[in-house]
Amino acid sequence: MRIIDKVIEVLRNRGFKIRVVRDDSIKADLNRLRAKVWVVPGDYFPWWSNPLDMIEELDLNDINALFVISERPYVISDYIMNNLSRARYWFNKELNIKVYAINIDRLEEDLEDGINLAITNFYREVSNVMLRGNACPSCGSPMALMYSSRYYSRRWRTWVNEYVEVCEKCKVISHRLTLS
Ligand SMILES: [Zn+2]
Repeated sequence: MRIIDKVIEVLRNRGFKIRVVRDDSIKADLNRLRAKVWVVPGDYFPWWSNPLDMIEELDLNDINALFVISERPYVISDYIMNNLSRARYWFNKELNIKVYAINIDRLEEDLEDGINLAITNFYREVSNVMLRGNACPSCGSPMALMYSSRYYSRRWRTWVNEYVEVCEKCKVISHRLTLS
C-alpha cells in the first residue's frame, strides 16, 4: 500500500474530509482545521533562500497543521519552522501553522500522535461540541468539553473515545483517551 493511501486511511479514520490528493501530499479538513500532509522524497532536503518561496511552494497559506513525513522528519520540520519564523520577522507574514514530525518508519503511530496534538492545539478549529466537562485540575471549575470523537487507535489496538477539555481561565487543555 502506498504511503499516501495509508495516510488517507488514517485521516478518514479520524473524521477528516480529504480535499486534495497529489503524489506527495494531501490536504484534508477536520471541521475548520485545515491540515496538509507532505511526504518528503527519500534523500531530498528542501532548501529555500526566501521563506516566502517555501510558503508558496508548499502551499501553506490556508493551512493550520503541517505533517512532515520523512526518514528524518525532525530536521526538516525544524527547518520549516525556522523559515516560518523568518517569514514573520522579515516580511511580517503571520501564519497560524504548527508543524508535526512523522517518522516514516512509525507512520501510523506517529500520525496518530501528531493528529492528537493538532486536535489539542487547534481545539477551537476542530470543535464539534460545547458541553460541560470534568473539573479543571488547576481551579476546580468545570472545563468546557470542546471536542469528542471515537476512532480505532493503532497505538492501543482498540477503539478509543477521545475528549478535548479546556479551562480558558487557567489555559489548561486536556486531551484524554478512554479505551472502550
Ligand atoms: Zn481552571
